[in-house]
Amino acid sequence: MSQNLTLEEIQDFKGKYPKQIWYLFLTEMWERFCFYGLRGMLTVFMVTQLMIDEKAANLQYGAIQAFIYAFTFIGGLFADKILGFRKSLFWGGILMIAGSFIIAANPTEFFYIGTCFTIVGTGFFKPNISTMVGELYRAGDTRRDAGFGLFYSGINIGAFFGGMVCVYLGKYHSWNLAFASAGVVMMIGLLTFVFTQKSMGPIGLSPLRDFVPGKRKAYEIATFIGSLAVMPLILIMVSKTEYTDYFMYTIGPLTLLYLVYEMTKLTGAERKKMIAALVFIVFSVFFWAFFEQSGGSLSLFALYNLNDKLLGIAGIDPNVVNNSANSVFVIVFSIIIGLLWVWMAKKKIEPNSVVKFGLGFLFLAAAFYTFYATRFFAGPDGKTSLDIFTLAYLIITFGELCLSPIGLSLMTKLAPKKLWGVMMGMWFLASAYGQYAAGLLGAGMATTNENASLTEKLISYTDGYKQLGIYALIAGILLIVISPIVRKLMQEVK
Ligand code: GLN
Repeated sequence: MSQNLTLEEIQDFKGKYPKQIWYLFLTEMWERFCFYGLRGMLTVFMVTQLMIDEKAANLQYGAIQAFIYAFTFIGGLFADKILGFRKSLFWGGILMIAGSFIIAANPTEFFYIGTCFTIVGTGFFKPNISTMVGELYRAGDTRRDAGFGLFYSGINIGAFFGGMVCVYLGKYHSWNLAFASAGVVMMIGLLTFVFTQKSMGPIGLSPLRDFVPGKRKAYEIATFIGSLAVMPLILIMVSKTEYTDYFMYTIGPLTLLYLVYEMTKLTGAERKKMIAALVFIVFSVFFWAFFEQSGGSLSLFALYNLNDKLLGIAGIDPNVVNNSANSVFVIVFSIIIGLLWVWMAKKKIEPNSVVKFGLGFLFLAAAFYTFYATRFFAGPDGKTSLDIFTLAYLIITFGELCLSPIGLSLMTKLAPKKLWGVMMGMWFLASAYGQYAAGLLGAGMATTNENASLTEKLISYTDGYKQLGIYALIAGILLIVISPIVRKLMQEVK
């Protein structure tokens, strides 16, 4: 493997992709296996093993996911200022491995403690690997979008296997094994990164490398200790969801204030682009709030209300489908959609990013209407069609592909280079708010009645999905209507 490359040598790569992206692709693939493996087990584990009622499980799912994404903002900041991306990834990986094995040792006893390790670990890992992808490209390199597209499929390959394998092991073998498998896979991810990081040249090295080594170490150790020290606090906040509320009420306004302060230092044109970026961020909160029902209410819907027949084949576990269908569809369709955009651009009919976001919401609306429509296929036992449910996942995936990879890339196009880290953090913080709201929405849909029949559960959840469909439709139309204004703010950025 070539070592000691300069940034120029890396960015001057020939062909479609820099070779380093494959290493990041693989590392992120394994990390997402672990992450989505855990995510896919959360509500099922809480309801069936911790005996938590559905409402509380939805709220805690939202809280855990919200913390995970909120910490990506904090992890991004610490990487920028102290650790650098590589050490952040390493530390994050170690914490994620520890988290999985802690739960595996005794799932019902250590579930929340292990989850805290995962929250902080993902915070250090997730945003920084995304920014490293961005660093492989020179500003203005038109191959950047394709790179993010490839990276996004790596995310979903990992998510597919993790979402499928972990919940399957948990439900049919043992929860210890399920959580341990997430830890083992994360170890593979971390080793992949450790053995390939030399090819990254200067990318991701410590921002404090000009400091005296002793002083740098002191800052780094303080960061490591600090990240361990906050865990008891997170533990309290996750297990009592009312504390999550306070956290969410504070972190957003604070980061926004910080951003406004940063924006005062920009030129008028730069500021306008940042405002456009904020419009995308705000809408993405709503998108994720609906989309992320998948790990919460849809997971419980799959547990109780779906039959096990997919395309005529019986014996398919609905939770496995719930956790993996979206990823399969992303893997299959991200390339096709990418090619469609290129084809449309050639014909000069490619929709701009604002309209693409709007389309994302229209697909989201259609998907939730389809989740709602499952009620028309239900039998007297309250169980309905896994086929229609999977069709809804196909539709929601088109929505995701119109919004998520485009949003990542937009952050790096609309923000000035010095604010990339912060803006990537804001993008993920929007996911945190989305996740938080997803839990609240899911809890609102769950029946309060402990002894509700399956049919009552079905009606309760599908009523909620119909509402979400209507709101998504309104958001999509709104975005398309305001698109000329946002485009003005974006100036030359498409
Ligand atoms: N599915 C994507 C990932 O895991 C996007 C998640 C998000 O931004 N909420 O990276």
